[in-house]
Amino acid sequence: MSRFRVVVDPTSCAGRGLCAELFPERIRLDRWGYPIVDGESVPLSLLDHALRAESMCPHLAIHVVEQEQEVPRPVASPRRR
Ligand code: SF4
Repeated sequence: MSRFRVVVDPTSCAGRGLCAELFPERIRLDRWGYPIVDGESVPLSLLDHALRAESMCPHLAIHVVEQEQEVPRPVASPRRR
């Protein structure tokens, strides 16, 4: 099992749902277009998809974090390297 999961910063998110299009395995949208993350771990086979959603979010509101972290800290993504 992977030690990564996806979290959303609701104060930064502007809706519209690009993240759900890029990573539908863990993110769906509510009726207003804001993301709902299922909270499950991200399998290593899907980690690239999660990191792509993180890097493509126009408001930097998606974060891929390690499960043990109490305070979300972003995992390095291509956009931040
Ligand atoms: S891509 Fe970013 S701004 Fe857009 S809905 Fe997802 S978290 Fe919010």
